[in-house]
Amino acid sequence: MVLYAEETIHPSYLLFLLLRRFEKGRIYTFIGEVVVSVNPYKALNIYGRDTIEQYKGRELYERPPHLFAIADAAYKAMKRRSKDTCIMISGESGAGKTEASKYIMQYIAAITNPSQRAEIERVKNMLLKSNCVLEAFGNAKTNRNDNSSRFGKYMDINFDFKGDPIGGHINNYLLEKSRVIVQQPGERSFHSFYQSSINDAAEFKVVAEAMKVIGFKPEEIQTVYKILAAILHLGNVKFIVDGDTPLIENGKIVSVLAELLSTKTDMVEKALLYRTVATGRDIIDKQHTEQEASYGRDAFAKAIYERLFCWIVTRINDIIEVKNYDTTIHGKNTVIGVLDIYGFEIFDNNSFEQFCINYCNEKLQQLFIQLVLKQEQEEYQREGIPWKHIDYFNNQIIVDLVEQQHKGIIAILDDACMNVGKVTDGMFLEALNSKLGKHGHFSSRKTCASDKSLEFDRDFRIRHYAGDVVYSAIGFIDKNKDTLFQDFKRLMYNSSNPVLKNMWPEGKLSITEVTKRPLTAATLFKNSMIALVDNLASKEPYYVRCIKPNDKKSPQIFDDERCRHQVEYLGLLENVRVRRAGFAFRQAYEKFLHRYKMISEFTWPSHDLPSDKEAVKKLIEQCGFQDDVAYGKTKIFIRTPRTLFTLEELRAQM
Ligand code: ATP
Ligand code: MG
Repeated sequence: MVLYAEETIHPSYLLFLLLRRFEKGRIYTFIGEVVVSVNPYKALNIYGRDTIEQYKGRELYERPPHLFAIADAAYKAMKRRSKDTCIMISGESGAGKTEASKYIMQYIAAITNPSQRAEIERVKNMLLKSNCVLEAFGNAKTNRNDNSSRFGKYMDINFDFKGDPIGGHINNYLLEKSRVIVQQPGERSFHSFYQSSINDAAEFKVVAEAMKVIGFKPEEIQTVYKILAAILHLGNVKFIVDGDTPLIENGKIVSVLAELLSTKTDMVEKALLYRTVATGRDIIDKQHTEQEASYGRDAFAKAIYERLFCWIVTRINDIIEVKNYDTTIHGKNTVIGVLDIYGFEIFDNNSFEQFCINYCNEKLQQLFIQLVLKQEQEEYQREGIPWKHIDYFNNQIIVDLVEQQHKGIIAILDDACMNVGKVTDGMFLEALNSKLGKHGHFSSRKTCASDKSLEFDRDFRIRHYAGDVVYSAIGFIDKNKDTLFQDFKRLMYNSSNPVLKNMWPEGKLSITEVTKRPLTAATLFKNSMIALVDNLASKEPYYVRCIKPNDKKSPQIFDDERCRHQVEYLGLLENVRVRRAGFAFRQAYEKFLHRYKMISEFTWPSHDLPSDKEAVKKLIEQCGFQDDVAYGKTKIFIRTPRTLFTLEELRAQM
């Protein structure tokens, strides 16, 4: 199903189309070159070898809408035109992003390496296996999705000049590490913590095997399990208060921890109960309060898990990265990037994590606007093609609200965190009120007393492009500072297990050498988002927009309201509107002639018309397509893909 220019698009009509198609098991729909995917919540027989064959090498509109069509288009652009491309998959939790990313990778693996070169097969196998390992450590059961990715993932697949995969690289974004300590009722921690007990034993085997195949060494795999066990034991460490000072209630655990982490019992105990501080020239051991000790223990557990996760990604990257590729001999090494990143989140309680995730979605929406909507309009203007201006909401204002230097929420949060002395979440909210009180997309109880949705004192609201979200400021300061007492880093660095030691290089620094002002969590995230968007913007984009049809994981229900909301915030209607006014295909006159000149005797083998533009006009008129095209200054624009197919057929007949 392709929505062509002629069709009238009303939100209800689009929903109706999606519903009808969903009921028939047709979960994919094209809007221009965007694939909309509705999660079927049941296994469909549409990913097999025969389907792959149907899409291989075909043009986008030649076959029914499918993920494979988009994967093939990205692959073809990469191979034919040596373009770096990327496929951006978005949608809310449980909408089917990760499944889509895996089908795309499987498709690419299936259509490449026709000559079955062993080295390429090895690389493909590792790229596919890496998913399984990352999911074990980065995914968890949540109330929305039994296999929810709790990190963002961008994966580059590198191709050689023949178009075969020769390696890859993974970037991971903001792992939800707080899950190691607390989970909402009904949710679990990361899968990896359960894959040693009976119920998940089968998966444990699969992951262990995958790690082996990818090339993790036995001692590395051992260390991974020791770290997981250590985190579980850390969760059982309890403090009791004796007078003013906390003691560890269950001291036995400390020796177990020491053994797992290959360090000494007294050192673990010291790191849990004291921190080393430099006061002027003196270095002293300051005893924790009970609260500090508990905070330290939790921060430690979260940090070793996060460090483990990042280390796993780095190890996978070491193994899959392209080696020995000589561009002078082999030509350009091109890339297809696949982005599977958290969708917009509105929970009952929204905290720092949701703030970051929703900011990420604002950034991606802005990129989408720039690439699809704005560029499209601008190109028509540049080419002098009549264009009916289309209104769309430009969310740059919200991106600025969050990330602007000195004035944005992240800057204000960082300022608050820099203050010496005790800073509270309340003080941070005060600063937001005074600096952003008048901003159209920000409100809080203080600035908007009549607003009933702001239930608690510490609540503030951001009017996101996808809807309003109320955040609780509670925990922002702590999560942004993300303090881990240096003592834990030193403890890990001094481990006699070299794998573990290597994960903590900064533990080498002595107390006087430590940077006092490391970048905050929000700023690190912001920087990683800016780099991500820059990277995506440099590639030719393809989009998959995933929709979750209901909250019950049911293959039968298409919840109108839920779907309408997603259609709105995914910007699908704007997309249709631009496409309606727009053209499916455009090409510079010279290139167009180069490809199709054999169709007409006016242009074959060359023409004597005053310009290539005139020659193209002549060719088009001869074929009778004049009503389906527009002539820009340098390019021809073709409205419907059908015309293009006919041209291709005519060309093939010559
Ligand atoms: P999150 O943001 O939480 O990671 P997600 O968008 O990545 O969510 P997935 O994990 O891909 O969501 O999908 C959730 C579940 O929906 C899958 O475990 C699977 O049961 C089902 N599902 C998704 N896509 C498909 C599909 N194409 N065919 C069959 N089932 C699917
Ligand atoms: Mg996912």
